[in-house]
Amino acid sequence: MATPEFRLYNTLTRRVEPFAPADGETVRLYTCGPTVYNPAHLGNFRTFLFEDLLRRTLRLRGWKVKQVMNLTDVDDKIIKRAQEQGKRISEITEPITEIFFRDLEYLRIEPAEVYPRATEHIPEMIALVQSLLEREIAYQAEDGSVYFAIARFPGYGKLSRLDTRSIRAGARVAADDYNKEDVRDFALWKAAKEEDEAAGAAWDSPWGRGRPGWHLECSAMARKHLGDTLDIHCGGVDLVFPHHEDEIAQSEGATGVEFSRVWCHGEFLLTEGAKMAKRVGNVTNVDGLREAGISTSAFRHFVFSTHYRKQLNLTEVALEASVSAVRRVDEFADRLYATRGGTAALAVAADELEQDATAALFDDLNAPEAMGALFTFIRKANAELDAGGKGDGELERARNAFGAINKVLEIAPIKRLPGEVSMSPQELIADEETAFDRGVRDWAEERVAARRAARERRDFATSDAIRKELESRGIEIKDTASGTQWKKVR
Ligand SMILES: [Zn+2]
Repeated sequence: MATPEFRLYNTLTRRVEPFAPADGETVRLYTCGPTVYNPAHLGNFRTFLFEDLLRRTLRLRGWKVKQVMNLTDVDDKIIKRAQEQGKRISEITEPITEIFFRDLEYLRIEPAEVYPRATEHIPEMIALVQSLLEREIAYQAEDGSVYFAIARFPGYGKLSRLDTRSIRAGARVAADDYNKEDVRDFALWKAAKEEDEAAGAAWDSPWGRGRPGWHLECSAMARKHLGDTLDIHCGGVDLVFPHHEDEIAQSEGATGVEFSRVWCHGEFLLTEGAKMAKRVGNVTNVDGLREAGISTSAFRHFVFSTHYRKQLNLTEVALEASVSAVRRVDEFADRLYATRGGTAALAVAADELEQDATAALFDDLNAPEAMGALFTFIRKANAELDAGGKGDGELERARNAFGAINKVLEIAPIKRLPGEVSMSPQELIADEETAFDRGVRDWAEERVAARRAARERRDFATSDAIRKELESRGIEIKDTASGTQWKKVR
């Protein structure tokens, strides 16, 4: 089968365009990461899942991917929180970073190749500001801060296509704006205040003590880890202006070459006004998903059921529909791997799946259509498995096609035949036990132990309450002579 053309929507040109990495081999991908002062919310994870879909699809196409996702670990909000709690910024950001990585694993988001921290790239940021000063598109203000001079960079506004005159008219003049030559100018380097020093958020620079501006972090870290020109730069649609516009200005201002060939942006997840009283409650982050018993597969299915450039509503009805859809996928996967042979029509259905799903994914990541092809295949394949069949090759064809497409969407745990060993650590995790299963197991074992302790102190009210709590999450327990056993029944 001929490989369909790979196409992506480029925010820079507002068109779906053919895409290939500049060197024909490795896609250099930069994805704006979280500001680690609060656990990321599900809206952030919709963006990270779209980027996961992108990297898996690029690899399906046969390219390698080098993805960089920054961790913003110095910023106004982090410093404010540190100040409130009398802490240093690292004491705020480290535990949140740990939660972020745990959440990524729960959602089975493939790890990026590099997760650079802003605080570990201060020299690179200073060097970038210096080049901008040398080229006279930045200037130092009286207060010691360094600003980017928008008027001296003619390309400003090419990504967001905002009229720079309207930016000027709408800009609010804040106190520190009195130091700027032009209210539109943005800070590259901020002179340190007392609270920055107290929180450990100030560094030496040629312009005195200070800290980097947010936009500067991404420009410096992208350049260090991926070079002057990226293949693709991604983020949520809310980052187009000013964040990405400012990244372009800084990077292109300093290097004189194009910063990113393609810009991709994921749309919002709408959670406001969602009525989710019954089972889902007010789920806003990954912990909430885990507590509501929404599995990784179900959430991935929910997110991929809408194209990444369309807004998505988080509703209980949609989540429940995804829960039952992935149950069908899971049952089918079990059946496909337990069966012993296939029919000729099964192999034909497998070819169709691979062709249709690949074509959909390569066409600007059309995951809803790819999932449609997968469910069509499941329907046809179930009928063929009912019919029986003895063909080894046909069965293998079906398993390969299902495995290849599920490896991109991952809406069912990846399954393999016994004896097959070529697995990455990521796949091993998914294969043995899903992160969701692990979460449930840890929680259930902790509750069973708490119940045992309650029984030992003859506190039967607590013991009963814990049993009910377990049952409400679909876990059944049985007391036996050798201890309490539990199993998941839902
Ligand atoms: Zn960024």
